[in-house]
Amino acid sequence: MSDIFDFVVVGGGSGGCAVAGRLSEDPKTSVALLDAGGRCDNWVVTTPGALVLMLAGGVNNWAFDTVPQPGLQGRIGYQPRGKGLGGSSAINAMVYIRGHRRDYDQWASLGNAGWSYADVLPYFKRSEDNSELGGEYHGKGGPLRVSGSRSDNPVRETFLQAAREAQFRIREDFNAEDQEGLGTYQVTQHDGERWSAARGYIHPYMGSRTNLHVETKAHATRILFEGKRAVGVEYRQGKETKQIRARREVILSSGAFQSPQLLMLSGVGDSAALAKHGIASVHHLPGVGQNLQDHPDFVFGFTSDAPYFAGLSLSGIARIFKGIAQYRRERRGPMTSNIAECGGFLKTRPDLDVPDIQLHFCMAMVADHGRKPSWGTGFSCHVCLLRPKSHGSVWLQSADPYSPPAIDPNFLGEEADLDAMVAGFKMTKRLLDAPALKALQTSDVFTAGVESDADIRQTLRQYVDTVYHPVGTCKMGVNDPTAVVDPKLKVHGLEGLRVVDASIMPTLIGGNTNAPTIMIGEKAADMIRSEMRAN
Ligand SMILES: Cc1cc2nc3c(=O)[nH]c(=O)nc-3n(C[C@H](O)[C@H](O)[C@H](O)COP(=O)(O)OP(=O)(O)OC[C@H]3O[C@@H](n4cnc5c(N)ncnc54)[C@H](O)[C@@H]3O)c2cc1C
Repeated sequence: MSDIFDFVVVGGGSGGCAVAGRLSEDPKTSVALLDAGGRCDNWVVTTPGALVLMLAGGVNNWAFDTVPQPGLQGRIGYQPRGKGLGGSSAINAMVYIRGHRRDYDQWASLGNAGWSYADVLPYFKRSEDNSELGGEYHGKGGPLRVSGSRSDNPVRETFLQAAREAQFRIREDFNAEDQEGLGTYQVTQHDGERWSAARGYIHPYMGSRTNLHVETKAHATRILFEGKRAVGVEYRQGKETKQIRARREVILSSGAFQSPQLLMLSGVGDSAALAKHGIASVHHLPGVGQNLQDHPDFVFGFTSDAPYFAGLSLSGIARIFKGIAQYRRERRGPMTSNIAECGGFLKTRPDLDVPDIQLHFCMAMVADHGRKPSWGTGFSCHVCLLRPKSHGSVWLQSADPYSPPAIDPNFLGEEADLDAMVAGFKMTKRLLDAPALKALQTSDVFTAGVESDADIRQTLRQYVDTVYHPVGTCKMGVNDPTAVVDPKLKVHGLEGLRVVDASIMPTLIGGNTNAPTIMIGEKAADMIRSEMRAN
């Protein structure tokens, strides 16, 4: 079977939904969107508190492992990634953050014209429908709903009280002129339900836009080329192998691990490395899969008898049932919690220009990404390093498109990252030791007796893992032999092929990566539409 569309978008995640949704606004432009997963429109996705059912693996999640990490005592890390429409925005923690303005100015200073903060702010605003904040920095009426939490958890106020006690600045809005300080996060939700990228850009139009064609359970296996031009995609759906053709462009939006994987499977990458798997080179592009950057993260955990936290105990389970009933009645209460309700951005040294650590304070105690459930209720606090010096890579383990890619984030590969995380650990401890939060702690699960710098270093190497923000593996750049796409997101040396997802970020931004990836999708659609107008 062969179908033809103007654009074929491979991957319906944050970037793919935004670009496919915007391009299909024009009824004269036909767009096909493929995703290997399902529709992701049922209660498991829409109920915020159900994220715990997806995080640990299995449901709507590719649940990748990393290769053993020398910086983490040889441990294998975990890399959850969303599978299905919405992609990782369908399983994420819904924190609405854009990063620091300096991050985008840095992209521009690397030669990426059109990507400074002033350039990208209109796209953040265009995507946004913020129910609470407005003015210079916020948008209304966009597809991505953003609001405050409806969990009504009193510990949000306790967190702010502890921040004041420990003399941290309080910040009301992390997405305005500055970022530094602690506070409560806004979330990508509407009326207490998760608002994935699919919910904003794709689900409402699946019946009504005849020019938008969506295929789920469609696993792309390779990009089809005629010479140096991408002309379509081969995919498998059930037992069938199918092809879909693109009149104008193939847009790769399969995320930071699978966009480079699909390029390599299709013959675009380091040709010598591809030859080892018997893959014929279409174009030698050695940067594909390089430059992987991700936020290394440590989680403090405390058991607590206070009646505000999720967890496995008789009272905890009773609270969940009560919460479900309340959610069904009024879309409020604990089931609307994104778990990581509070946090903020801090500088571990006063001479830093921008915050270098981010905190996520969680209304549950989570060990090993929720993969090791334990009896009891409690809370936790993540601290992650925002701009790690350790960079890693992604490569093919095999030419089989169903085999997961090899993923090496190289966490704590550079000693400087460990030093910065030791400082971040101490700063977070200062907050957790403030009387308001201390009063909630029954026992310290991971850091009891950890006092000296040597103890902290050892603890970090023992527990650090991702906080789910891998980027950079199809880096945008010019005059850079490791760049994969140009500032228009077109793959260097090829025609009819763009990458539109988190993999194009040349450097990791200081914050969560969903809103920035949606911004990338918005900007890509805008660039494509203006090229179409010009032709
Ligand atoms: C557990 C978790 C929590 C997070 N929490 C937050 C948060 O609170 N706030 C925030 O801002 N960010 C958060 N993030 C990060 C954020 O969600 C991601 O950075 C963002 O969604 C990435 O978008 P993307 O378009 O690059 O890729 P994705 O959204 O991952 O989309 C890639 C899509 O491509 C599909 N795909 C892959 N390979 C193929 C193939 N071969 N054929 C067809 N389809 C394919 C996948 O199924 C997927 O749907 C979190 C991420 C995770 C995993």
